[in-house]
Amino acid sequence: MTNNNILTIKDLHVSIQHKPIINGLNLSVSKGQVHAIMGKNGSGKSTLAKVIAGHPHYKITRGKIILNQEDVTYQDPDIRSHKGIFLAFQYPVEIPGVSNLDFLRSAYNSRQRAYNQKELDPLSFFELINKKLKSIDMDSIFLNRNVNEGFSGGEKKKNEILQMLLLNNKLSILDEIDSGLDVDALKNISKNINYLANQNNAILLITHYQRFLDYIKPDYVHIMSNGHIIYTGDADTAVQIEKYGYDYIQKI
Ligand code: ADP
Ligand code: MG
Repeated sequence: MTNNNILTIKDLHVSIQHKPIINGLNLSVSKGQVHAIMGKNGSGKSTLAKVIAGHPHYKITRGKIILNQEDVTYQDPDIRSHKGIFLAFQYPVEIPGVSNLDFLRSAYNSRQRAYNQKELDPLSFFELINKKLKSIDMDSIFLNRNVNEGFSGGEKKKNEILQMLLLNNKLSILDEIDSGLDVDALKNISKNINYLANQNNAILLITHYQRFLDYIKPDYVHIMSNGHIIYTGDADTAVQIEKYGYDYIQKI
């Protein structure tokens, strides 16, 4: 029997400075699927995203993270990235002194190396990245600036999407990518995400807003509370939450 799971999380427990944040979380994402994770502030959504990507600050005290049937629970973030995990941060960091273009090319080439594929010289890369920029309606001036330095909230989010478009990911985790985007940017970025989604990859969308899920239809909507998933429904769940708030879930 073939296993279609891209991501399986089993009984995950995570703490930071001895404070438990994720408490017994289970999640299973198959190829070709889009899953949304919603939940009140502080419910552990960003922590989950960072732990899947391998953030070193968080301590996994129990459970497993399995990517394509391989246990990656204790692997370093760069190794996971080479295996196809991508995280667009809720709060992208500014990296003064590092040009965005150099950063993007180095991320691209290191992924190419990991797959034994051809690396691109600066000129060929410039051509490739310009096509991607056009598709998300981003000005090429952002290539010459330092990574995220002085970018507006929306520009930082676009820069995360640019990275997503550049790397051929198996699992893309987008943490509140919609926040800070105006409605035109939101539509454009949704179009690009839909275009990228295919039968061999999967997308995990963390969001607060049903509006985003009007543009990207999730197969499942999970509600997180106190570090685990308390409810899983279909796209309609987001509509109900928009109407009645998260307390609606607690009452089901
Ligand atoms: P969400 O993304 O759902 O809003 P987070 O995962 O960001 O929630 O945070 C969950 C809880 O963990 C919050 O109470 C937050 O303050 C705490 N937390 C997250 N990261 C850290 C950290 N680095 N140090 C201390 N507490 C943290
Ligand atoms: Mg968050």
